[in-house]
Amino acid sequence: MKELRCRDVGFDCDAVVRAETEEEVLRQGAEHARTTHGLTNLDADTVKGIQSKIRTI
Ligand SMILES: [Zn+2]
Repeated sequence: MKELRCRDVGFDCDAVVRAETEEEVLRQGAEHARTTHGLTNLDADTVKGIQSKIRTI
């Protein structure tokens, strides 16, 4: 399983995204960022930064 904590990305937020694959975590994380934090477009550097925070659990 892969896990991404929203807080680790820099938001004051307790959301945690878990999924089987890194791709799915990224997809759900992007969706959460869009719907909850109003981030409509994530540039490549932001995505890279988020990817670096994904951990294996
Ligand atoms: Zn969040």
